[in-house]
Amino acid sequence: MSVSQLAKSIAESPTLKLNEEARVLREKGEAVVHLGAGEPRNKAPIGAILSAAAKLSTADIKYTPTDGIPSLKKAIVRYTEENYNRVVATENIIVSAGAKQSVFNVLYSIVNPQDEVIILAPYWVSYPEMVKMVYGVPVIVTPEDGGFYPRMEDVKKAVSSYTKAIIINSPNNPSGVVYPAEFIGQIVEFCEQKGIYIIMDDIYHKLVFDGKTVPNCYNYTNKDTESTHIIVVNGVSKLYGMTGFRIGWAVASRELVSIMANVQGQITSCTAGLLQAAAEGALTGLQSAVESLRLTLENNRNVMMQELSSFNGVKCTKPNGTYYCLPDFRAYSNKSVELSQLLLKKALVVTVPGKEFGMEGHLRLSYAGSIKDITDGIARMKWALDPSSPNEIYIGDRKLVRDWL
Ligand code: PMP
Repeated sequence: MSVSQLAKSIAESPTLKLNEEARVLREKGEAVVHLGAGEPRNKAPIGAILSAAAKLSTADIKYTPTDGIPSLKKAIVRYTEENYNRVVATENIIVSAGAKQSVFNVLYSIVNPQDEVIILAPYWVSYPEMVKMVYGVPVIVTPEDGGFYPRMEDVKKAVSSYTKAIIINSPNNPSGVVYPAEFIGQIVEFCEQKGIYIIMDDIYHKLVFDGKTVPNCYNYTNKDTESTHIIVVNGVSKLYGMTGFRIGWAVASRELVSIMANVQGQITSCTAGLLQAAAEGALTGLQSAVESLRLTLENNRNVMMQELSSFNGVKCTKPNGTYYCLPDFRAYSNKSVELSQLLLKKALVVTVPGKEFGMEGHLRLSYAGSIKDITDGIARMKWALDPSSPNEIYIGDRKLVRDWL
């Protein structure tokens, strides 16, 4: 079959692939523990359901404006004012089918062929592939100390005359760390001065623990919304656990938003109106769902840290937010893809190899599931990897004996 060089060069999303593998195994009746999931178990907030149900019952589901329904955009204006202390207009907002499409739209609208986009490792798996999809060049900046916090001097070294944008994702998928305010301040000031776009992927920004707050990028610029290079991407997927609703948005200058609307108009026409109604319901309804998810995640994070602390040789930077942590498994293997496959095959635990996030020797573990998923998952991983752990375990009804160490 003849397919394009570009399409051929795009890697399959490893996280979506693993979700599918886990689903197939579960369907076969296997007792899989999914520590790969990027979604929580909560139900969608009632406000979202009522709003979508009211819209559905009108039976009047048609195209919407390409950039989103006005009432949802107004709710996003309020969200931006309340959470970023920034007054924007509805013309500064474009709604898309998930934050994923928002990031892609932004990149498509700003990157020329061969332009470089700086990505900070560890990074969300989709960024480098998306940059390649718009004929750009991903430039990965990896902290020299093997940690998860980028340093401004390393970013500066990676900047060239081709640098078009930098993507910042804090709280960070996959490490869970929150970048310090000092770093955000330096990066915003530097990029504003150089005319480099700062794409803030804020999809986890309220899911932070230990009383931390996420620095507000707009605090570090004196430019107004029409001239700033800051583009904020957000959505309902992670904060409200509404992953399946596929609603995200971008906040940018009117000029850029209108370009993005042209692009989106030729691709999807608009985002599904019913799901936009649901997102509006989530944003305007009771916000206790977000806090309750945050508390659950913080508690789960604590359990995950506790379980990992007794895992011989495994080191883990404590995450301050998100659904994930990224422990270092180099004491067992530097080949995270093989390690992840072994864990799935022998112990029926789904993990995501750190290699996919630019951090070889690590595994991304999600604590978005149940406490039992976490405790069972880590117990199985210890059994599969640590020779000093008991060599027998029950998985489902089966008693398994470890004979490979
Ligand atoms: N950015 C990051 C960092 C993510 O982790 C995800 C989802 N895994 C997204 C964007 C995409 O979110 P959405 O479901 O809204 O497309």
